[in-house]
Amino acid sequence: MTTTPTRPQTLLARPGEPAYVEATATYNLAAPLHPAAAVVARSSADVVAAVRAAREAGLAVRSQTTGHGAGAQASLADTLLVRTAFDAPVRVDPAARTARVPAGTTWAAVVAAAEPYGLAALHGSSPTVGVVGYLLGGGLSFYGRRFGVAANHVRSITVVLADGREVETSAEVEPALFWALRGGGGGFGVVTEVEVELVEMNLVVTGGTFWDAADAAVVAPLWEAWTTTAPPEVATSLRLMNLPPLPGVPPVLVGRQVLVLDGAAQAPTVDDVERAQAVAHDLLDPLRSVATPLLDTWHPAPPSALTLTHLDPPDPMPYAGESALLRTLGAAGVAGFLEAAGPGSGTTIVAAELRQLGGAFGAPDRTGGAFDRTDAAFAYQGLGLATPETAEDLDRITTATAPWRTGFTAPSFVEGRRQQQRTSDDATVARVEAVRRAVDPDGVFAGGVAPVLDRPARA
Ligand SMILES: Cc1cc2nc3c(=O)[nH]c(=O)nc-3n(C[C@H](O)[C@H](O)[C@H](O)COP(=O)(O)OP(=O)(O)OC[C@H]3O[C@@H](n4cnc5c(N)ncnc54)[C@H](O)[C@@H]3O)c2cc1C
Repeated sequence: MTTTPTRPQTLLARPGEPAYVEATATYNLAAPLHPAAAVVARSSADVVAAVRAAREAGLAVRSQTTGHGAGAQASLADTLLVRTAFDAPVRVDPAARTARVPAGTTWAAVVAAAEPYGLAALHGSSPTVGVVGYLLGGGLSFYGRRFGVAANHVRSITVVLADGREVETSAEVEPALFWALRGGGGGFGVVTEVEVELVEMNLVVTGGTFWDAADAAVVAPLWEAWTTTAPPEVATSLRLMNLPPLPGVPPVLVGRQVLVLDGAAQAPTVDDVERAQAVAHDLLDPLRSVATPLLDTWHPAPPSALTLTHLDPPDPMPYAGESALLRTLGAAGVAGFLEAAGPGSGTTIVAAELRQLGGAFGAPDRTGGAFDRTDAAFAYQGLGLATPETAEDLDRITTATAPWRTGFTAPSFVEGRRQQQRTSDDATVARVEAVRRAVDPDGVFAGGVAPVLDRPARA
């Protein structure tokens, strides 16, 4: 009996089919994706087959993991969307302090795999963010003031290219592509695995202090002044929040705007816990003394606790956001930010955040990627439900923070397509584009390039 080989196009699910629904699901419910076809790839072989099938069908190719970044996706017409969700575990090598992470993995799984060895990964604030998308955008971690941009600690990235080849890139193999992948804005291929360095981390002193937003006028300037001299082993975020009454949100924080200061001080070994606690006290005690908190949760904990500190919602939500890198704000910058986002501003957005940078975030990295550092003092991020009111609120903060903007955004914080999202200087943009043309001359992945309004058009 002869068998007819399956035509590759039958891999591709079409609208309405269960695999299509699974592949196109997004964490950001305000950014539904409507590709011409979709695939859930469970292995590298699936990715290779999908890329070949797309090319045979004349489709472009785009990828996603969780859909946290779906708001930044351009139209997916005539495009195959590959969702990477590999059936493979995270593999930690405790002696080498590395982890091999299959595509589709979220940070929670890497943190859980590393913790038994006294190790931590340079994850972001949310356990549900995908490792690949975060690292392709550089990655700003609460550990970053000590270790720098997370992508500087990537050892290798394995990627399926437009010609169907799977290549493991590193500082030694395909170094130009390895460089461009890390913060270059995407459009190179489908990543199937990353190898990351882990850092020694037995404990963190982590938590949040919450005040009524009316106290922001006295607390925020003190915090901002502290950030200018803070040691690198501590990192914080200051947010004005209008918290929805979701499970897990303490009732005392609902129904009013609150000011939240959260983050972590690091204790690489158990002997470092006292110092980490002292660092946290040096920050918090003066702030607690000028205004009584509503809630105070800082405590020593294993590193996995840090994935929950920031209270990022675990379930999908319809949101819109904007982000920008800011210089040192000083009293005038803080006052402008509070006027636009604080009490009396009438804002309804869920969070207006100043994420503390500085320290190693500003250090160049010899083996780093296209986004290997930022001299900014803060990453601002505004996030709200996707409504016209949110857009107005975000615009007001954009105007208020204009004098302090560096003109750049961190690539991992690019949330949408409506505002300026420049992530690199002209020389870097040109160098990345040259790599893109070399690995993808037909532009199969070109639609996945992150939105940068002044990026040179592809010829
Ligand atoms: C609640 C929340 C908290 C966050 N916290 C932080 C933080 O602390 N620090 C920080 O730096 N960022 C943070 N981010 C931003 C986050 O890192 C980016 O949105 C990131 O792109 C999400 O990656 P993802 O894979 O989960 O999302 P996806 O939307 O699935 O992917 C985003 C992009 O990554 C690319 N991509 C994903 N998978 C692949 C693949 N297999 N191959 C090739 N390309 C791929 C695609 O270009 C895709 O469009 C946060 C975002 C949210 C929503």
